[in-house]
Amino acid sequence: MAAASASPGAALQAQTRMLHAGKAPTWAGGTAVNPPLVRASTVLFDSTAQQREMRARRGSERIFSYGARGTPTSFALEDAVSELEGAYRTRLLPTGLAAIGMVLLSYLRPGDHVLLTDSAYQPVRHLAGQFLQPYGIEYSFFAADGSDAQARMRPNTRMLYAECPGSLAYEMCDLPALAAMAHAHGALVVADNTWGSGCQYRPLALGADVSVMAATKYLSGHSDVMMGTVATTEAAWAPLAARCDAFGMAVSPDDAWLVLRGMRSLAARLRMHEAHALEVARWLQRHPAVATVLCPALPTHPGHALWQRDCHGTNGLLSLELAPGTPQASVDRFIDGLRLFGIGASWGGYESLVTAADMAQARSITDWSRRGPVVRLHIGLESPRDLIADLEQALDAALTPRTTKNR
Ligand SMILES: *Cc1c(COP(=O)(O)O)cnc(C)c1O
Repeated sequence: MAAASASPGAALQAQTRMLHAGKAPTWAGGTAVNPPLVRASTVLFDSTAQQREMRARRGSERIFSYGARGTPTSFALEDAVSELEGAYRTRLLPTGLAAIGMVLLSYLRPGDHVLLTDSAYQPVRHLAGQFLQPYGIEYSFFAADGSDAQARMRPNTRMLYAECPGSLAYEMCDLPALAAMAHAHGALVVADNTWGSGCQYRPLALGADVSVMAATKYLSGHSDVMMGTVATTEAAWAPLAARCDAFGMAVSPDDAWLVLRGMRSLAARLRMHEAHALEVARWLQRHPAVATVLCPALPTHPGHALWQRDCHGTNGLLSLELAPGTPQASVDRFIDGLRLFGIGASWGGYESLVTAADMAQARSITDWSRRGPVVRLHIGLESPRDLIADLEQALDAALTPRTTKNR
């Protein structure tokens, strides 16, 4: 029922379909623009026969039969995400990390091996140690650019797990090539698409079977709601749906309503985050205390050619690598000296954020030991001129050598 290909608007752009998906039912007298918020645990039926029929059909069809099986509000959000991702269907989970966990739980069995990207969102490493290892599922990492992935496949590799661009350093991999290689091996291809959020990168169109997003980030867009989404191809759908139902996985309709509301302005916000981030990035590249600005949209980034081929833009994320040997105290002074950047994890809201990144902890294969400390910025919707002035005062106060301070 939710298949994107079956919708009458299939010829429209994803951006248009996303805005028109999950709209309100028609009442006498007209409709509100946005769908109503429906809260429910119990769902009532007209007769025992109807209840029995709905129970029988809900395994394969989307049926409003009990709150834990989804509500009209969460169904509306699922449809909008499916349009955005070009997916057959979508499931919603309480957080992005829960969505990743559910994917591992749905498709892996004891004795299987999963090959994880070295640039995975850091808690995925923790999850692998916490859950996969004790449950007899092997895991290992491949280089974030994908160069050694084929060599690291094992006879029992059942899943290749990518994140492109990668967390913190935005490494690009050739997802179509990796997907072809993994599929030839009989492995499922999963991608964390939080960076691309469906607008800037579309893993399912590039060969992935499953795309996961933290809707906590750009989809919600306002730093006030947690949510994860898992969108799949038709062939990959059944194990995920069965596992989510078995575990009683559901989200609050209020949260689903908020994410759907945020999604309506997703494309517009991303374009503004991108413009501001590029302006800030170009300024940072000229600052003497900054060794490298990490962003795949910059020609200096090692993944730039793949970014040009596979991405439709960038977002508000930038990481800056300071000069190797910069003391941690100076890095902290820089971060603490910023006035317009909140110190905090997560990103994707309208506001600018800063956080120190520990690359030694975040990578197993890539050796960062000879590189400088990394600071991640999320460039928000504030005026880039104000952000640049703020970065300039904080960098100069904390990091610029005294001899050049009065230039
Ligand atoms: C934030 C994030 C997640 C997890 O999302 P939560 O909703 O915070 O659990 C997963 N993947 C990536 C790449 C993220 O940045």
